[in-house]
Amino acid sequence: MAQKQNEDKPTIEDMSRQMVGQARLAIAVENTADAIILIDIEGNIQYVNPAFEKITGYSRSEIISQNISLLESGQHDPSFFQQMWDCLKRGEVWRGRFINRKKDNSLYQSEATISPVKNTAGQIINYVSVQRDVTREIQLEKQLRQAQKMEAIGTLAGGIAHDFNNLLLGIQGNISLSLLDLEAESQIFNNLKKIETYVQDGVELTRQLLGFARGGKYQVRLTDVNRLLNEQNLLFSRANKAVEFQEEFDAGLWNLEADQDQIEQVILNIYMNALQAMPEGGTLSVRTENVTIDEERLTPYRVRAGDYVKIAVIDTGIGMDEKTQRRIFDPFFTTKEMGRGTGLGLASVYGIIKNHGGFVNVDSHKGRGTRFEIFLPASREPVPPKQLPTAELTDGHETVLLVDDEEMIIDVGKRMLEKLGYETLTAINGSEAVDIYKTRGDDIDLVILDMVMPKISGGETFDRLKEINPDIKVILCSGYSIDGKATEILQRGCIAFIQKPFNLKTLSRHIRAVLNSETYDKK
Ligand code: ADP
Ligand code: MG
Repeated sequence: MAQKQNEDKPTIEDMSRQMVGQARLAIAVENTADAIILIDIEGNIQYVNPAFEKITGYSRSEIISQNISLLESGQHDPSFFQQMWDCLKRGEVWRGRFINRKKDNSLYQSEATISPVKNTAGQIINYVSVQRDVTREIQLEKQLRQAQKMEAIGTLAGGIAHDFNNLLLGIQGNISLSLLDLEAESQIFNNLKKIETYVQDGVELTRQLLGFARGGKYQVRLTDVNRLLNEQNLLFSRANKAVEFQEEFDAGLWNLEADQDQIEQVILNIYMNALQAMPEGGTLSVRTENVTIDEERLTPYRVRAGDYVKIAVIDTGIGMDEKTQRRIFDPFFTTKEMGRGTGLGLASVYGIIKNHGGFVNVDSHKGRGTRFEIFLPASREPVPPKQLPTAELTDGHETVLLVDDEEMIIDVGKRMLEKLGYETLTAINGSEAVDIYKTRGDDIDLVILDMVMPKISGGETFDRLKEINPDIKVILCSGYSIDGKATEILQRGCIAFIQKPFNLKTLSRHIRAVLNSETYDKK
């Protein structure tokens, strides 16, 4: 009996043990990184811990006795809270994600559990909520999902573009050859000319796809962005009289180490969109500046610290709502009517900028206009003067070995080369090329080598040819590359690169540039 009394009435030891326990609990609650909130059944806040203050920006004194609805962001449907309260009032634990508003009005996402606290009679008297700020995790998740999606579509797009390019080269080559044999301005001549412009449209499409596909970066050289933009402005302003073009260029702008054609394509795509957004006219401002980012940042994507060239293109057009803005970089997303938009423009912008290690920001308001900001890694190197001679069709007499795994390319390529006067040997794969070069290497002045081939790749073939003759002259040829392989092979000593599909003129110019150049002639 005496024992029982002892159990009911706590002894001094019991009490002090309990106090120690409470003090420990207080330490835990006050020091955890998760926000802990105690509210009454009406939702009035009775206690918050320091982590809550840190996450939301509200101090304890400001927030105590305020209603929890103060944190609402307006991002949830009323039914969301209804369901939450229903669950809590039944005495169950609620788990879920909130988008809440901080004191400074910015939003954060938290993962929360809310548990009812009951008195001895079983009535709910409080709710305790534990919340973890998961804004960063969610952003990373989203980033990863976006990256994976882009990568998958990029691979697909690259593959299609590669096959398509070969077809276009076949068509282009045959047209080029036929045109040479035809009387200018005859009906067939004009028809073929027309087909040639359609082929060009096709080339434009595959170019967009390739820009978007990963690793489509070919000829990296130092690029003066102001000059490039100025050229585009001249071109565009001539054709768009209703739009006023404004330039605000930083005269001391750093250069880019970039594929100039691709950067041009980025600008072109953004300009086209801006102009289409201003059908009644308006202002298109282009600004450049140097930007140094001191520490790595996590925006929707990873931004590395370093020097960047920033290009801002600002239009006063129709603008976009938020829903549109979220999707603009998705391939094939377009709000334009059939025939006007492909939805590939910005997807390709995204791909190209990413391949160059840069990033893009968009800011737009419906009815007020849009600002695109492009950041590209800068180089402090000066731009060397232009090199490539721009010759018209020039004939040659040398011997060329053409290596490609596509019969069609071999066929049309051989005929094009022969038309230009070159003695032409062909090989349908890398090992055949090596065999031919072993026996006839002395006669061969130049090798045109396809980069993407099954079994022995262009890169490997190049290495083997180089073993036979270290001074061999090779033009690398491809419509598509994986992981910037073209650049890498070029760095290993391959002389030039020609992008498929090419016409007679480009082919002849590249060949002459390589065969005529003394700098590469080490003998
Ligand atoms: P397309 O131009 O073929 O539609 P894009 O990828 O270039 O494809 O652009 C996708 C979408 O982004 C456009 O359809 C348009 O809704 C929107 N957009 C892009 N740039 C702008 C702009 N400057 N102003 C308004 N909307 C734009
Ligand atoms: Mg577009």
